[in-house]
Amino acid sequence: MNEIELLNLIQKISLESFDYPFIGQVKINYRFKTTGGRYHLRDHHIEINAHFLKKEYRQDLVGIIKHELCHYYLHVHHMGYKHQNRDFKILLRNVGGSRYTPDIGLTRKKKYTYQCTNCQKLYYRVKRINLKKYVCGKCRHKLVLLK
Ligand SMILES: [Zn+2]
Ligand SMILES: [Zn+2]
Repeated sequence: MNEIELLNLIQKISLESFDYPFIGQVKINYRFKTTGGRYHLRDHHIEINAHFLKKEYRQDLVGIIKHELCHYYLHVHHMGYKHQNRDFKILLRNVGGSRYTPDIGLTRKKKYTYQCTNCQKLYYRVKRINLKKYVCGKCRHKLVLLK
């Protein structure tokens, strides 16, 4: 999905769920890690995390867009557009926007924790390691998988 398609989707959701046109711009953000999207008060543009543009995350993407459009709609109508505001909470619930960034594993990079049986040093790895081949780098003793 490119920026034009994303903008079309946002405009469509805006009309369907908010009965109000989105007139701002959209930007795809490739650096966001834990943030799904961001609404900019100054010029009404919305940034969306590039990870969520993949087909398999379409449901999550719609939830994020609705969340950002809640900020937008309430802001341009001079209502409570912040997370803690009552207006925001009610509108978010009504349109079915996501409250938090959906967890698609962007922050769960280190999956395996190993510990040395001797010096207790911890090792974090994304992939499983062969315990027959690898030993503690410090004291050369065996490692065990913790979780
Ligand atoms: Zn927000
Ligand atoms: Zn050790």
